[in-house]
This record gives sequence, structure tokens and C-alpha cells, in this order.
Amino acid sequence: DAPTVTGSAPRSRLVVLAGPTAVGKGTVAADVRRHHPEAWISVSATTRAPRPGEQDGVHYWFVDDDQFDTMVERGDLLEWAVVHKAARYGTPRQPVEAALAEGRPAMLEIDLQGARQVRETMPDALFVFLKPPSWDELVRRLVGRGTETEEERERRLVTAREELAAEAEFDVSIVNHEVHAAAEELVALMLQSPTNL
Ligand code: 5GP
Repeated sequence: DAPTVTGSAPRSRLVVLAGPTAVGKGTVAADVRRHHPEAWISVSATTRAPRPGEQDGVHYWFVDDDQFDTMVERGDLLEWAVVHKAARYGTPRQPVEAALAEGRPAMLEIDLQGARQVRETMPDALFVFLKPPSWDELVRRLVGRGTETEEERERRLVTAREELAAEAEFDVSIVNHEVHAAAEELVALMLQSPTNL
């Protein structure tokens, strides 16, 4: 019998970036986007409200609870989690699969709970932990961005302590001393083909 040709398209590598709140995952991802348009970065769905300057479809897909429920029920999300006890966040599955099928280097920027789910469903992904230079620096960044209330900040710091302890679950760590340098380290990992590991 002639072999059936299936999925001959190049499949590229998926990088999953996680790390504690306020470590700068979003800023690093934005830097990658700006300097490396060839890299594809997932846009998550969230039930939280947009911050000033955030655009629908660019930073997040901003949805309400009913819309999020529907995505969960349909199995449209690769992973999802309640983050900081405040809102739900999830990764739309189809765009990730499309990017990988096209052979584009692809990245998810998600929380630890989400990363653990992807570890189960896509074990071939590369799990990258972004960490702050120190705990004090993390607190400084969270206070400095001034986007959370005092109560919200306290809650995020509790989560951050737990998240920092999870570094050992990851394949690689990057210290975010400086955004662009961290972004370039990340891109280098994204561009390595899975077979070159
Ligand atoms: P923020 O509200 O500051 O934009 O994000 C809060 C947290 O949600 C961050 O730790 C971020 O990594 C996480 N997050 C963003 N998108 C997703 C997602 O699609 N899934 C999961 N599990 N977490 C996400």
C-alpha cells in the first residue's frame, strides 16, 4: 500500500512563556512582536476589563462571562484558568494550531496553571520561565506600574510567591534584567527547530 501523506507541512515549535505577575511577560512579548514579526504570539481571551490603551484583538480578546462559557463548552480553548481569583483567561486553540501548521515559531504567554495544562496536552512544547532579578525588584515593578488597587496587588504578590517556586517545572529560565535582552533570548529559543534540541 502507498503510504498516506498526512500533515507534510512543517510543524514549528511552540514556546510557552510563564512567570510571576509583574515580571514583565507582557512587555517582553510586546518587544518580540515589535522586532520579530515572523514570530507568532497568541492573543488570549479574557473576562477582565481592558486597561487604558489596551485594544480588543491586539492585547486580548475581551469577552463577557457568557462568551467565555461558550468557548469552554465548545472546546475552543487550548487551556484556561482563573487568574488572581479575578478573571478568566484562555488560549484560543485554532490560531495556535494554524501557526504551528504554517511552520511559524509560536508563543503563548500564560500563567502557571495554564502552562501546566499545556504540559499535559502539548508535551513537546518548550516551557520557559521568566523570572525577576530579585523579589524586591518584582515588588517594585508591580507597585511601579500602578495598574492595580492595593488589595489586588496584595493578592497578586501571594500568587507570585507560589509562582516563583515553580521554576523547577520549566525547561529553561530567563532572568528579565532588561526587556530587550530577555526578548532576544526568548526569540532565539523560538527559532530553534524542535529537531535541533
Ligand atoms: P494581566 O491581567 O496582567 O494582563 O494578566 C494576568 C495574568 O494572566 C498573567 O500572569 C498572564 O500571563 C495570564 N494570562 C494571560 N493570558 C492567559 C491565558 O490565555 N491563559 C492563562 N492561563 N493565563 C493567561
